[in-house]
Order: sequence, then C-alpha cells, then structure tokens
Amino acid sequence: MADTSAKDTVAATQGEALEKFTVTSGYNCCYCTIQGYKRDGSIVYIEPGELPRMPERNHACQRCMAWWQRAVDEKERVMYPMKRTGERGSGQFERISWDEAIDLVAEKLSAAIAKDPRSASFYIFTGNMCTFDWFAPARMAHCIGATTWAMEGIMGDHATSVGFTMVTGNPDPGHDALDFMNSNMILFFGTNMVDTIVPSARFLARAKEKGTKLVVLDPRLSSTAAMADQWIPINPGTDTALVLAMMNVIIKNDLHDKTWLANYSCAPLLVSDVDGSYIRTKSGAYCAWDTSANAAAEAAPSQGEDDGTSGPESTWALTGHFEVDGVPCHPTMDDLVAEVAKWTPERAAEITGVDAATIESLALDYAKAQPAAIQTCTGSSRYYHGYEISRVAATLSGLCGYTGRAGGGASRNNGGAPIDGASLSFTGSSGSDVPLMNSAEWDVVGDGESFGTFMGATLALYSTDPEAYRSARVFKSSEIYDAAITGDPVPIDFLYIATANFINQSPDAHKVIDEVFPAIDFIVTADPFNTWTAQYSDLVLPASTWLENWDISTSGTGPYIRVNKPVIERVGESKSDTEIMTLLAKKIGQEAAWNKTDEEWVRTFLDSDHPAFEGCNIDDVINEGILARADGIYDRATYPLGDKVFATPTGRLEFYTELLYPFGAHVPTYLRGEDNPENQFADKYPLMFIQYHDRARVHTQHAKVKLLEVLETEPHLHINPDDAAARGVAHGDVVRVFNDRGSFKCKALVTPGIVKGAVAMGQGWEPRDFIEGHYQYLTHYAKNPVEEAISMTNAAFYDVRVEIEKA
Ligand code: SF4
Repeated sequence: MADTSAKDTVAATQGEALEKFTVTSGYNCCYCTIQGYKRDGSIVYIEPGELPRMPERNHACQRCMAWWQRAVDEKERVMYPMKRTGERGSGQFERISWDEAIDLVAEKLSAAIAKDPRSASFYIFTGNMCTFDWFAPARMAHCIGATTWAMEGIMGDHATSVGFTMVTGNPDPGHDALDFMNSNMILFFGTNMVDTIVPSARFLARAKEKGTKLVVLDPRLSSTAAMADQWIPINPGTDTALVLAMMNVIIKNDLHDKTWLANYSCAPLLVSDVDGSYIRTKSGAYCAWDTSANAAAEAAPSQGEDDGTSGPESTWALTGHFEVDGVPCHPTMDDLVAEVAKWTPERAAEITGVDAATIESLALDYAKAQPAAIQTCTGSSRYYHGYEISRVAATLSGLCGYTGRAGGGASRNNGGAPIDGASLSFTGSSGSDVPLMNSAEWDVVGDGESFGTFMGATLALYSTDPEAYRSARVFKSSEIYDAAITGDPVPIDFLYIATANFINQSPDAHKVIDEVFPAIDFIVTADPFNTWTAQYSDLVLPASTWLENWDISTSGTGPYIRVNKPVIERVGESKSDTEIMTLLAKKIGQEAAWNKTDEEWVRTFLDSDHPAFEGCNIDDVINEGILARADGIYDRATYPLGDKVFATPTGRLEFYTELLYPFGAHVPTYLRGEDNPENQFADKYPLMFIQYHDRARVHTQHAKVKLLEVLETEPHLHINPDDAAARGVAHGDVVRVFNDRGSFKCKALVTPGIVKGAVAMGQGWEPRDFIEGHYQYLTHYAKNPVEEAISMTNAAFYDVRVEIEKA
C-alpha cells in the first residue's frame, strides 16, 4: 500500500485537510495510476495510486509524478488559439478567439471535403492515450469520410508487432512480470525495461535475488544492463545474427525440443521444393509426413498445456524429402536448420562484435536453463528489416519448447499485461473481450457505420493485411510523406494533428519541413504545448491535458477501468480534444454524433451491461477513479499461448512464412547487411547513430519538467573513448554530428558504456535543447519492399550512419 505518512505530515503541519485526487497517466507508457492531495486547487503532494486487490503493483515513477509541473507552466502551454501570421516555422502567430478558430477549421475542412472527403486527414499519435481525447479526431474523421493513418509504422513499433504476429499470431505476447520468478534465465535485447517499463523493475529485482540470471544484449550499458548478471555489448541492429547463431549452436548440440516442435510448431509441415508453398489438402488443411504410415497426412494443430512436458511423442517427420501428389516437398524444419547452419558463431561474431565463445556459451546457457525467457521490444527492430528480430526471438523460444510455458516465452516486454480477461486491450491480444470503445453511443458515427469497426481497422496496428487499412480509409503511415507530396495513394489538403509532435517524432525532419508540410494547404495542430510541430502549423489550438479532462482509460497493468476527472483548473483557454471536436461538429453538421459533454461520455461508457462492469456504481467509480473489473483475474502469473494453439494460418508456431519465399526470407534470416540503403554511406559515415528511451522522459512528453531536469538538462551524445580519441574529442566537448541529410550539435559524453562504432542519444529532445540542429534531421524513412509486402515499413530510426567532428 502507498505510504501515506508524508501526506499525513503535510496535513498535520498545515493544520488542514487536503483534498485527495486519483488520476491515470495518459502518456505513452504504462497507464500508471497516481494519487495526490490538493490545497486550494493546487497539488501539494503526489504518490503512486492504490490499485485495488493488487497493492504490490502500486506504482508511478518520477516522470509522471513530476510532470504536473509542466502542465501548470503557462510559459510552456498554448494558452489560446493562435493563427499563423508569418512564414511557417517563423513562430509568428496572432491570438484569435475560439469562435474564429473553429470557423477557420470548419471552412478549410469543408473546402477539402467538397473536393474529396479523403483529402482531409486526421493524424493522431500517442501524446494522450486516454480513450476519448486520443480517438476523438479519428472518430470525427470517420463521421465525415476523411482519412486517418495507421501510426505504428512511422513510430517505429510496427516491426516488432509484425515479427511476433508472423510467428505466434500475437503481436504482443507478453508474459506478466510475476512470471519473471519462474524463469531461470532472462535474456533481454531491444529493451531497457528498468527505465521504460518501470512498474516491472521491482519484479525483475526480486527474480534476480531469487537467482534468475539476467543477461542483456545492448550496444549501451543501459540501466537494465547495469543491474544484470551479464552485459553483452553488441553492434547496433545485429541481434538477429546472434540469435541465428544461438539456434545453430542449440541444434548442433541436439538441445532443441523436437517433440515440442513436432507437436506445436510448423516444423513438420511440408512445403513444396518448387515454389515454397505449404502442401495443403483440397480442403486447405496443412500436411506433414507421418513416419509410422510412411505417408502424408493432415497435421491439424495440437492443443497442449503447460504440464512441463513437450506433449506426446510424435511420428511427424522433421526432416526428409517426400512427394505428395507429385509435388516434391520437405518439412519446414529443414529450411530452418539449413538457414541457421550458415550462422556459425564465428560468422555472427564478425557482424555482432560479440566473440564466438560468448555466443556459444549464451546459447548453451539458454537451452539448458529450463526454462529461459526472452524479453524484447522495439529497440532491436528500429532497423532495416526490423521485423526479423522479434520473429527470430519467437522462433528461438519455440526451438527450446519454452513457448507457452511458465518462465519461458519470448515477450514484447510485459507490456500486454496479459492477466487473463484483465486488460481492456484494444487489440484483444491479452485475452480481452471488451473493445476499447464499447459505448454504443460513441460507436455511432452516421451512415450506418460503426466506429468500433473503424477502430478495429485504425488500431489494426499489428495487421499484416494492407487491405484492412484501405477498407476503412486508414492508410499506412509509411505512405504519408508520398501522399502529401504526390497525392498518391490519397491527397492531403487538410491535416489535423492531435496528440502528436509530428516533426519531432517522425523521421527525416528536413523532408517533413521542406517537402511534406509545404504540400499541404492547411495544417492545424491541437496540443497543450507549443511544440516544434505547432510552429509549422497554420493554426494552433490549446488542448488540455489528462490532468484537466474527464476521460477514461482501460489498458495498462491490471484489470482496471480508470476514470480521470479534472485535477487542476484548465490552463488558459484550453479545451479537451473531445470538446474541440464537439465544437467543430456543430459547424459541419455532425452534432448528432457529438451531443455530450466529456463527463457524459464517461458516464455513458460506464453504463454497460458487460460483465466487466458488474456491480459498478458509476458515482463510486468516478469518485475513486478506478474500477477493479468484476471479471478480472488478480495477481496470477500468466503468459499467453499457454494452450499452444497459435493464431497463425497453420495454428502452429509458424517460423516459416510463405509470403516471404520470393524474398528468400521464408524462415528467419539476417537481411539487413545485404540490401540496406543506408549501407551506401558506410565508408563515408562509419558510426551508427542510435537513440534510446531514458528515465527522464517519454518522447517529448516530459520535456521541461524542472524536477526531471535534475537528471539531464540537455542532450548528450554518448561515444566510446576510442572513437572519441580518434576524432580528438574529449568529454564535454561540443561535437557536430552529421550525415548527408542533416546535422546537430551537442556535448559529447565519452563513456565505455557504449560499443565502439556506435553513438547514442536519449530521444525526445526538441530543437531548443540542442546547440544547433536536431537528431531527426539525420534519420530517414526509406521504404522496405519486404515490409511493404507484409504490411508497412517500420521507420528504421536507429539504422542511421553518421560522422562526428569537434565543433
Ligand atoms: S512515465 Fe510511465 S512508468 Fe512512469 S509514471 Fe508515467 S506511465 Fe508510469
């Protein structure tokens, strides 16, 4: 339980009662619930909120507990509507009234709609992930037949989702943090959980105390690496090559779980020698070769359970050459074995910088741990062909029979909070059966269409079917730059940006500023803060924050429904995103769908007959700010795929992907070195520039918080002492970092905590924080044909080559 002694002391000292509040963070992180106390409307004390039935998970970190300082900082806030008077980017605006502002938006929007409703775009990101404010602009887009964008590609998260989906059918197969205790070893790559999934860190510490071995692969000595038993420095973007070599070692030493593979993976399924397609019966069933009958037979997916075994003995062949109906064929396991055989530890050592003996012992440790877990996230996938890392991670877990087993699995952090029936995840990937928007009235958007259906497409963030986007006028974010510049696949005449600092968080800022934005007639940004994006907008609207609004959030750790109500007074003339859409609706004839106040929407949502809301007293929930779901399961270490039936086309763990046969990537492989466009710069720009998420900020969302500036006040470039010495750079020197696309200047932080050949910077800094330039001037968004074939290109934010010089 939260320690209330400090609060009591505050109250006693002041001799007066304090007003308690509870609120849940809307930032793109962990939905932590925070509670605090106010006096005369001002926050005087703040602490982690109390989670019903799960007190040991009470959590909030320094970021959101300090963030209110920025929310009330009028110098940081957009105080009133502002219309541009100078050039875009000049910072010259005039104050206008809300009436004038909404009239202007309505006029520009109506003009775009008259030309082509699809030419009006509504772009939402993750700057406020409370339900109504996050999705209000998307809902408006659907009301009027306008366009929205599937955000995962441009944010650089999509590759992780795609890789896991390909193999497991689940984009987010996260084991709950309580399951750490069941692992004998946890292997981390692409994640700095201690700084980013902070609520899980305490469980990691407990597992380590119990004896779980923690091993971290990372180019940087991250906070997670620092607390691990072993940090293995690795060259950026090369994790896939190392994991392939691990699989090679495991198979060579006959440590792979052949029974599990035969029962639950695609390993025995036959594929054509001719075109790589799965052999199917006329009814579409997949086939394997039954060694007892010496014939092909249907291989329906088996159901298993976590009973500590690999399932029954199997007679499916895992190797061989066969013929089915005249088609020569073989089991997919042969393809996997052949591919990983190419990846000797020595070859992987050349690419990864990790010596062969370390790779070999890591592989043997992992296979013998029984069980070992993998924790990964988007850090290893923001590279060209980034989907390969989560694909190969999920395959490695299956190779040892760890998938669907307590203490095993390959998890995308534990961000899915897969407590059975608990998380109201919009993807339903965590066992949820309640859609995010399950208010029947919110669902109505006119023309007989359902916003819920639309949301399914918008939030098909993990879809591998591009048509799923098209059907709902949701376009791939990998197409947004081309769309603005060329009108293909959809014109953009009007762009409404909300919950997004688009320029700061998207790749290739010069392209955005010089080509994308100039091609758009009218850009309006709604934001609480005067962001870089706001500076390049024609109209800036003051949005209020999750500390000021009525809203609801349903995801996050634990089976909760959380209600936000205003904690502080509205700052300036700010309005919630939902209120802004409601004002706009009145001007464009959409008021029937926008007929409630924010509080009324919250009450409507809570007034549900779904089992999750059983016994719900709306006023109590609003008062307490959190509802422990009636159908939730509390404090049970759970993990997905425990029944070993996968939501893949074969119903099995599917490391063989037909779609990628033409690309030579039908089984996990390492492609990045061969066709990566950034390689053309390898000689000219020898350093890899990577970004990381640090403990002081989530993107730009915790910028300029005075309490957090204790940790870092300006961006630093982390550089290895050898690389620094070779360029005459000393610790604290100002350096210029550059490539053909752009440059920035900042101070050098010389540290052995980063591998040679790589430089790194915490992400989320804004131009005003740099001595000159910005790191997004150096990044790029090159289309990847393989990823476009799967769904959409993942922004390879960390696949960036640079050189540095002392400034
Ligand atoms: S930054 Fe993330 S972990 Fe920290 S309090 Fe906010 S939501 Fe929770």
